[in-house]
Amino acid sequence: MENKFKYIYGPVPSWRLGSSLGIDLLSQKDKICSFDCVYCQLGATKVFTETRHQYVSENNIIKELEGLPDGIPIDYITLSGRGEPTLAANLGSVIKSIQRNRTEPIAVITNSSLIHRADVREELSHADLVIAKLDAPKQDIFEIINKPLETQLNTIVKGIKEFKKGFKGKLAIQIMFTDDNIGCAADIANTVKEIMPDEVQLNTPLRPCSIVPISEEKMLEAKTFFTGLNIISIYESNKKDVKPISDIDTLKRRGKE
Ligand code: SF4
Repeated sequence: MENKFKYIYGPVPSWRLGSSLGIDLLSQKDKICSFDCVYCQLGATKVFTETRHQYVSENNIIKELEGLPDGIPIDYITLSGRGEPTLAANLGSVIKSIQRNRTEPIAVITNSSLIHRADVREELSHADLVIAKLDAPKQDIFEIINKPLETQLNTIVKGIKEFKKGFKGKLAIQIMFTDDNIGCAADIANTVKEIMPDEVQLNTPLRPCSIVPISEEKMLEAKTFFTGLNIISIYESNKKDVKPISDIDTLKRRGKE
């Protein structure tokens, strides 16, 4: 049976989250993001911004969650979707509302662009799992691969370190390897070791996009630089067999699990 959900999608099988029920806090037709990553599966960024704004009320999200059929296996409720979820000004209050209504752990997948802001760090701190992007060891590579609007890489790294200090949940750093940054794997690993996250997620764009993924062999070589950290890699993970309850249109929102 298909349901017309506007803000929630899935659950979708995720190599790092198991059965992941997505919530799109932006829920606009066009992608809203502070980056325009070369590998983005959602296409070019249409609304390029670092300004936070409320797009969907928490009441509407909770109403949809209340409409979920019983008994759906969900490992994580994941705030992700068509763009950068920390651009939603009500991120923190939505997380808290979901926690009052559901028992599943909450994950946020962020590009880290706003993590230098104290308000964003405070809101993210209510999640159980934060997956923060870090694709580059220095500004020039960052600009090539992530094409940020304004943020500087050193500000992001400082923000992630600050966030890690006070965060009680699990922090994962996700790295998307492409031809642009695979040669810098050792330098990225050094930065990640300064952060000491709970998990490192080594990824490469296997879903259709214009960027050729890194081979399994090269990913294994890159993995050696991260020795000593808790590593998961897209090539070595299995996806669960998950049946979505949302319809095809809604499923198109997924992009980052
Ligand atoms: S991959 Fe994520 S951070 Fe990069 S442009 Fe797409 S939505 Fe934004």
